[in-house]
Amino acid sequence: MFLVRNSKIKKSVKRTFNFGIPAYLSSTGLKTCPNAGACAKGCYALAGAYRFSNVAQAFERRLAATQSDSFIDAMLSDIDKQRAERIRIHDSGDFYNEEYLDRWLKIMRARPHVEFYAYTKMVSLFNRRKNDLPKNFTLIYSFGGTEDKLIDVDKDRHSLVFETVAQLKACGYADASNQDDIALGKNPKIGLVYHGTKNIENTNWGKVPEYKRKAG
Ligand code: SF4
Repeated sequence: MFLVRNSKIKKSVKRTFNFGIPAYLSSTGLKTCPNAGACAKGCYALAGAYRFSNVAQAFERRLAATQSDSFIDAMLSDIDKQRAERIRIHDSGDFYNEEYLDRWLKIMRARPHVEFYAYTKMVSLFNRRKNDLPKNFTLIYSFGGTEDKLIDVDKDRHSLVFETVAQLKACGYADASNQDDIALGKNPKIGLVYHGTKNIENTNWGKVPEYKRKAG
């Protein structure tokens, strides 16, 4: 079984599931978030206890499955079995290469009635492929990576991490901290309040260059 539901995703108005692979680097040494930047320091999925949990092992198993074309049929079968209406690709991890992205695009095209969405830091990859994405896929560029400069905050649906809800709202962002449906709503500026395992001052979020200049 590939698809899982956590408490945040269960609040969705649709029958929504998560699909995750290991964050940042797999146990086999594959860079699963090739463009991770400031986000990595403070990433919940990289926290010590988490890395040794059963959840982390399940992420490794899913990653192994994604590396073969049989992933497409296996995922389609899971989508059908679970009667999924919406799928968030990567509550952990990212589109680690183009071949892997292509597998997901085939899955999306084979299930046009299912909505797919993903936060990603693979900005140049998607800028190159943006005319080749199915209608049932919503892409959200996510600040905190090595390609932040390529995100057009006026045109691209994107997400930024804030310290407080007040700050997020003052900058005109929609608060998706507790309800991820917001990420697919009218406002393409998605705000998330940091609630990782570290205090925000112990992360690099404050150093994301565009953070204050563009949002403020
Ligand atoms: S891209 Fe996401 S999952 Fe990967 S290290 Fe950054 S915050 Fe963690």
